[in-house]
Amino acid sequence: MGDIWVLGAGQLGAMLQHAAMPLALNVNTIDIYATEVPKLNDDDIITVELEHWPDTIVTQTLSAHPNFLNRETLKIFADRSIQKKLLDSLELPQAKWHMVDADISVEKLHQDLGTKVLLKRRSGGYDGKGQLWLDQTENSDLPSDWQGQSIAEEKINFDEEVSIIGARNSAGECVFYPVTTNLHYQGILLASIAPTAFSKALQPQAEAMLTKLMDHLNYVGVMAMECFQIGEKLFINEIAPRVHNSGHWTQAGANISQFEMHLRAVANLPLVIPATKNNSVMINLLGMDFNPAWLAVNGVEVYWYGKGVRPMRKLGHINLSLPETRKTRQSLEQLKPLLDDYYDESIEWCKQHL
Ligand code: AMP
Repeated sequence: MGDIWVLGAGQLGAMLQHAAMPLALNVNTIDIYATEVPKLNDDDIITVELEHWPDTIVTQTLSAHPNFLNRETLKIFADRSIQKKLLDSLELPQAKWHMVDADISVEKLHQDLGTKVLLKRRSGGYDGKGQLWLDQTENSDLPSDWQGQSIAEEKINFDEEVSIIGARNSAGECVFYPVTTNLHYQGILLASIAPTAFSKALQPQAEAMLTKLMDHLNYVGVMAMECFQIGEKLFINEIAPRVHNSGHWTQAGANISQFEMHLRAVANLPLVIPATKNNSVMINLLGMDFNPAWLAVNGVEVYWYGKGVRPMRKLGHINLSLPETRKTRQSLEQLKPLLDDYYDESIEWCKQHL
């Protein structure tokens, strides 16, 4: 087999490389803005760590390779409106939504979607970026630069936000991790827990939904499905056709991480059901400097991405997967003073959900 190339050179690509070493796979990441493209062989495989990209010499060359995986699927997920139309056509539940056409009025959006409406850019938005709330009670305007460029969604009053990570190989075999419960802060994932007592009941529903989607797309690799949970029902918020932040806990809490699972799927290696250990917690490290004191906390595994520090930027994460939840709670308490103050609530959230 040839090399595996990852379109994009961020932390997801780096963690794919990290997972590749014990499998004797050669994984290379490529910065989409690199000015030179390395020579690719015919038996190389191309996968991605992002779902939308500008036209550059790198993205053009890699996406033209015959072994560029999921070519048609990635086009769908590069545009929220196409993604939403596909989910509707497959009768997969999601929030009520509307295209924000050039001539649509704010009154029409409120009439169809309710008092609070969330605009989301059709492409390029992530981590809560590219979103704008319209509130009828405040007479919010619909800015002209969102018209024709975005979709609008009803506000979902969810009980919890959950996600499921699945993988599918070219033979159509699918495997899944336990449903993960996620906490967001200002639109950014702050913490994940898996499994939790309540999320187990959602597993069959989540697996059936993601299987339907992956089968329809004849998808190969790891795919993440983020959902809103209301009572016993799931509504899809977003699909990521790649490894996903809400699956980082699998590095500590499963015998096969999502990164290894993705490589197994794309390299046609055996896809086996992952064995899950304990109740795992993942905490994203946002906008702060590396702190060696984290390493002294019982059970803590740190992944640092080596990026420049910027406010609220994802710079690393901590995984915790201890056999006794009592000990996990103790470690979370020890982490509290080692993180910014706004983490206090999320630490409490983790302790409650364990
Ligand atoms: P997204 O970038 O679409 O994943 O959105 C980031 C976060 O915004 C989500 O994790 C939710 O916390 C919140 N959000 C997104 N869409 C909705 C919605 N329709 N109703 C309520 N909250 C939402």
